[in-house]
Amino acid sequence: MERSPVWLALMALLVLVEVAWRLHQRRGYDGRAALATLGLMAGGIPFALLNAVVLGLVFEATWQWAPVVWPLDSLWTWITGFLAVEFAYYWFHRASHRVRWLWATHSVHHSPHELTLLASFRLGWTSLISAGWIVYLPLVLMGFDPLLVFALLALNLRYQFFLHTEAVGRLGPLEWVLNTPAHHRLHHASNTAYLDCNYGGTLIVFDRLFGTLARERPDEPLRYGLAHRPRRDNPLAIAFGEWSRLLRDARRSRSPRALLATLFGPPDRPATPGEPT
Ligand SMILES: [Zn+2]
Ligand SMILES: [Zn+2]
Repeated sequence: MERSPVWLALMALLVLVEVAWRLHQRRGYDGRAALATLGLMAGGIPFALLNAVVLGLVFEATWQWAPVVWPLDSLWTWITGFLAVEFAYYWFHRASHRVRWLWATHSVHHSPHELTLLASFRLGWTSLISAGWIVYLPLVLMGFDPLLVFALLALNLRYQFFLHTEAVGRLGPLEWVLNTPAHHRLHHASNTAYLDCNYGGTLIVFDRLFGTLARERPDEPLRYGLAHRPRRDNPLAIAFGEWSRLLRDARRSRSPRALLATLFGPPDRPATPGEPT
């Protein structure tokens, strides 16, 4: 993803403004969590570089097989491509919550107990192995240039930066179509009532279409962080915690069928009392 200095400066400024806002509102700002996020960001740089190289090669190789090409200089291509990428992102994100092999990476993003702009950068290091990116390959086979797919995904991620905050309330009619801070706060809540909802990236329409949209209830205040897991502040423990649990459970599987269910089933299992988490 392109990192222009103006964009980086704007994000850094907004992160600081949000710190001031939270302190002014007496909501507090979790310094240890912020340090853990910064550690995960620094540790993620080599993984991001590796991802860029490997995925660039894979997508370019797939592109050779596309029987048709959507021309990049057509507005229609970008509108259709945007909807196609949003659709694929919805399923990538939904699978990231419902398949343990993908959740092992995505759980990192859901580990903060406080929802802040900085927390949007808390991302797993192992997306190459979890391979959720496979959902975007059919778009390339349908004739969408990998450049378009990567550009639209970058836009999607930039947009989502603004969703990770408690400083913005509901946004009226925009809530019908767009993913908003209110929708995404619910997505990050680990209350049982709110698990597995609001998967959209820029748009919320696919959640409406596929029945995964939820709204905050007045009797159920949001609680962030991972369900059934203790808080961790060590970047390595956050990055590999779910992988170590997954591998431990895989080793305990007694049949190939049980092994497949462990690796690719849903990550619902609460830790049994007494076992290491
Ligand atoms: Zn998620
Ligand atoms: Zn998020």
